[in-house]
This record gives sequence, structure tokens and C-alpha cells, in this order.
Amino acid sequence: MAKLMITHSQLVHPQIIDCHCHAGKGDRMTAPWNTIAPLKSYLRRARAAGINKTIVIPAFHSNYDEANAELGRIVARNPNRLIGFAFVHAKRDAGRIFDMVGRALKNWGCRGIKVHGFDAMPSREVCEAARKFRLPMLVDVVSRPEVVDMLAPQYPDVNFIIPHLGSFTDDWKAHQQVIYQIARYPNVHADTSAVRQFDYLVQAIRRAGPRKLLFGSDGPWTHPGLELHKIRLLGLPPDQRAMVLGGNVLRLLRRAPRGAEVTEITSSGQNTRYETLVSEGVAPGSRDNLPLIPESEYHL
Ligand SMILES: [Zn+2]
Repeated sequence: MAKLMITHSQLVHPQIIDCHCHAGKGDRMTAPWNTIAPLKSYLRRARAAGINKTIVIPAFHSNYDEANAELGRIVARNPNRLIGFAFVHAKRDAGRIFDMVGRALKNWGCRGIKVHGFDAMPSREVCEAARKFRLPMLVDVVSRPEVVDMLAPQYPDVNFIIPHLGSFTDDWKAHQQVIYQIARYPNVHADTSAVRQFDYLVQAIRRAGPRKLLFGSDGPWTHPGLELHKIRLLGLPPDQRAMVLGGNVLRLLRRAPRGAEVTEITSSGQNTRYETLVSEGVAPGSRDNLPLIPESEYHL
């Protein structure tokens, strides 16, 4: 496969992609994250901070089909800036995960899966759907990183992103363990959202390398500019910073199917574009994945 050149302007002005933000209404109304995730201020702040695109996921909801549909409508209003990930509940939606994800891809253009440990940890059914559709999976392990040691080796061709370096609640032992996991498993990555103890981000880069850490904000409840500044403070060389800011997540999104391909997978279980990528040596779990690929390659 031809080597893709990284241009000077890509290094100086890298694509900045926030890989973790919420959007839409929840229906429980007992906490902000299950009530509403309003994007208006977020989008203004993100633009001011220089963030080009944002991956959005629904708020907690008792019906994720409904929440994914609302998310799809939000993304459709701002398709140049937003990319949707479909939320599924591994227990409550058991038996219909593949259909739900297929619907979210077909109807709403989703490009990944979100699972939250507060609902239920990912089941084989969820991982099989991610594998079949070649989607990255954002899994909040709620300070229980031991589940990553179960998931990652069982599904080496599924790319997992562990938000908050394993813990939204500053559990340093979870951070430590996730740092080892992203270093050990080629298919495990972490996002930087809401990580307060800065030196764990430094350690993540030192141990696992810049290809395993993804910039995320966990907006709209955090300020995306403030979260982005943490990446700048890491003081990485331009090529490494570009990976963390957006290159890595673009690489993971590259395998997600679109349009007719989604229909092909839902009906036949095959993904020919993925097979082509494998034959070109750009397979999930490969350490040889290209660090930076021009945005035009990804059709975002
Ligand atoms: Zn979140």
C-alpha cells in the first residue's frame, strides 16, 4: 500500500476531533446526564477552541432506539461537525443489538457503538455486532477496568475506547490499570475526557505511545476548550499531538461502513470494504495502522 504523506499543514493545523460528547434528551431526570445534554453552548465553545468535529452519543435513556433516533436528527442538523455513536444497553436490548445498531447506521449514519457500565457491561452480542459492522466501541467501564482484560483478548478485531482512562471519578488504580491495558492490547485505546490527574495522561503517552490516547471532552457538561488544553499541555511533538487530537480516532472510524455497505452487512453479515482493508494490511489490532490519513480518505 502506498505510504501517505503527512503534510506540513496537517501537523501545524491538525484535525481536532472530540471523541466523546453527549447530545439529546434522557428520560429519567434524576441527574444531568439522564435529563438533557444541550449542545448549544458546547458547539460555540468547541468552535472557539478550534475543534473541527465531535462524536456525540445519547444521554442515559430507558429506550436507546428512541435516543439514537433523536441523536440522528441532531447530527443531521449539523452533519459537518457531528458524528453519532449508537447507544445500546447490553442487558435490556439483548437479542436485538445487531438490529438496533444496523438501524442506527442505516437511518442515522452512526459510526460507532457506546456502552455504559452503569447500564451493563458489553456482552458477546454487543461485541459481535461491533465486529460485524467494524465499529469502534466506546465502553465506560465505571472504574472496573478488569472487564477490559476479558473483552480485549476475546475480540482482538474490535477496537475499544475506554473513556476517562477508566474512571470518571478519579480512581487512580483504574487509571493505572487502563494505562497497562492500552500498552498491552493493540485494540484498546483510552480517551482523555474528564481525567483530572494530569500525570496519568503523561504516563499513558509514555507507556502506550501517542497512538493509544484520544482527545475527548465528555461535553456538554465539561468545557471542551479546557479539556483540549490538557492535550496542548502534554507538550507532544506535532506528529504525536496530531494523532491524539484526531488522527487516532479517524483511523478507528475508517473501518465503519456507510450507505449500501450497511445494507450489505445487515443482510449478508459480510463487509467487503473491511476485507479489502485487511488485504491492504490495515486490519484492526494491527500496530502497523497508519498514524495519519487525510480526512478525504474517511468520508466523514
Ligand atoms: Zn460521557
